Amino acid sequence: MTAAVPGASSLLSLSGVRKSFGSRRETNVVLRSIDLEVASGECVVLIGASGSGKSTLLRCINLLETVDDGIITLDGVEITDPGVAVDRIRGRIGIVFQAYNLFPHLSVIDNITLAPTRVHKVPVAAARRRAMEMLERVGLPDKATARPDDLSGGQQQRVAIARALVNDPAVMLLDEVTSALDPELVGEVLDLLAELRSEGMTMIINTHEMSFASRIADRICFLHGGEIHEQGTPAEILQAPRRERTRQFLSRLA
Ligand code: ADP
Ligand code: MG
Repeated sequence: MTAAVPGASSLLSLSGVRKSFGSRRETNVVLRSIDLEVASGECVVLIGASGSGKSTLLRCINLLETVDDGIITLDGVEITDPGVAVDRIRGRIGIVFQAYNLFPHLSVIDNITLAPTRVHKVPVAAARRRAMEMLERVGLPDKATARPDDLSGGQQQRVAIARALVNDPAVMLLDEVTSALDPELVGEVLDLLAELRSEGMTMIINTHEMSFASRIADRICFLHGGEIHEQGTPAEILQAPRRERTRQFLSRLA
């Protein structure tokens, strides 16, 4: 792409992203104007009150929502272009949600190979080999033939992460992936994310876990009023926030 494309030097770039829901008469503007640059290997954590648009932002990046305005580029290619091949782009962007979203009637390995074989036309044998590699990576190689119901919540989330990793995505989006877990199961999932980060995975993570954010984030962005209200290193945002709204948000968590 040409140098004129905004954010061409970032892996992922959002410029003036706007998203609202509702009718013309009653519009809920959720993302007013989001500018965000994410470098390769960077781990960005999004924080903000419930309803501040964190999930919507990740869904826009994964093209699960259509933006009203603005541009998102991945590797310099505009993915918000209406002519883009959505499935191919989604293959480059892994996403994991709060509730595990595994198909209960499929084995663990079939959950992982479903999209590669059906959507991306990967031959079954190759998809299964790759799925086993990913199960090794998340520490669950012995669970390949298990059903999701036979796994703990933490193990199910690790499978969901394996499934998101299977296409070797350029970026991983993680939306409150520990919020639905019993407290004793949170650690194994957070440890896995920390491991991915140390391997250089580019990630955007929505979380309420400030101690985790502080441990894993290169940068924390505080969402408020449909914008990134304040951003900085974990020390800057969590220990010395400059703006009143950020201080209020953090003090309510304490
Ligand atoms: P967060 O993840 O920060 O809690 P969300 O992105 O889930 O915030 O939601 C932001 C706002 O967008 C909320 O007011 C929510 O009700 C609204 N919203 C999200 N998705 C939809 C949708 N599909 N239809 C209508 N409103 C939505
Ligand atoms: Mg959310």
